[in-house]
Amino acid sequence: MADFSNSDFSTRCVHVGNDIDKETGAIRRPITMANSYRLPDDASTLNWSDPNNIIYTRTTSANQLYLQERLASLEGGEDCVVLATGVAALAGVFFSFIDKDAHVICTDVSYIAVYRLLHEYFPEKYGVEVTLVDTSDPEEVRKAIRPNTKLIHLETPGNPTTRVSDIAAISDLAHEHGILVSVDSTFASPCIQRPLELGADLVVHSLTKYINGHGDAMGGAVIGRRELIDKIKREAMVNIGGAISPFNAWLIMRGVVTLPLRMKQHSETALKVAQFLEAYPGVTFVAYPGLESHPQHAIARKQMHGLYSGVLSFGINGGVQQHNDFVNALKLIISAVSIGHDESLIVYTGPDDERIHFYPEEFQKNGFLRFSVGLESAHDLITDLKQAFQQVGL
Ligand SMILES: *Cc1c(COP(=O)(O)O)cnc(C)c1O
Repeated sequence: MADFSNSDFSTRCVHVGNDIDKETGAIRRPITMANSYRLPDDASTLNWSDPNNIIYTRTTSANQLYLQERLASLEGGEDCVVLATGVAALAGVFFSFIDKDAHVICTDVSYIAVYRLLHEYFPEKYGVEVTLVDTSDPEEVRKAIRPNTKLIHLETPGNPTTRVSDIAAISDLAHEHGILVSVDSTFASPCIQRPLELGADLVVHSLTKYINGHGDAMGGAVIGRRELIDKIKREAMVNIGGAISPFNAWLIMRGVVTLPLRMKQHSETALKVAQFLEAYPGVTFVAYPGLESHPQHAIARKQMHGLYSGVLSFGINGGVQQHNDFVNALKLIISAVSIGHDESLIVYTGPDDERIHFYPEEFQKNGFLRFSVGLESAHDLITDLKQAFQQVGL
């Protein structure tokens, strides 16, 4: 295989991890739907649980290895582990690096499973101490550090607030105290933001979102230094068992080829939609890191390579009924969870949500709409929003 270490990002999206199939000469590697691989002639000294030996698909599969190689290259990390979902990847980090007497600092508004694992599961089951802080202010993080703090977990931009945390500043701070930093960078993808280059130790992705990009396969990944990733492979992948299906690994390998094209389009369209919404009288607020009105726009500009991805949140005048009517009046934009698909998706979270008190004030009053701007044209999306506003009298 050619050496792609000096190739540009878009070239690596296409080529790293692919090769000529030795058996047929096909110019792309096949999907290997096999649970087991032929053992060596002498298996007596084999380490059955070594994720670097291809033996059994729960400990590693061929398509998983190809995808790991590509994602490690795209994030600029030594190694990568790919798992069944983004949550399996996050759980892999937490189970591997949180010991029983540890203290953990986490972004106060994060993906819901992170909140449950760190705020409820680890403290209640294992007595782990967890402090949830507003990580958009590095001073808040500094104040929360204790002698037994082992991990700081950031999510930036955060789901669903789009709040941005300064990865470089918090990594510097953490490393002064020997603390590991993991960053959930799902909202940005490695096309827009590369936390390892900013000093983080681990970057986590839900591959389900932008990296696959087509809403048809789930996966998760963690990328970082070899010794850290090896620990996750040995402890979380082999023994907890969140292996990715070879078919999904293959689909994600195909999806990631177009990542740079898609992220550019998602970002340009989302900025136009955000600007339209910000100027619309019936809209109460818009949270999008690409808007100058975003409270952390300056940090976003510094660490997000000039593109701000496709997710924004906003509110409209009126209560629960008005929001539901608005969503149901949309014709093109689909009411469904998830982000980073090719199609635009919108979700209304009402004012009774269990975590509403963690959200910024403007999110709390009547709830908010999270809008994942897809690959449709900005014109068609804005037309759809306008007709829905008209239908609800806004
Ligand atoms: C969706 C999402 C996850 C979870 O990923 P799954 O693939 O659904 O398990 C984690 N973090 C963020 C920021 C997400 O948006």
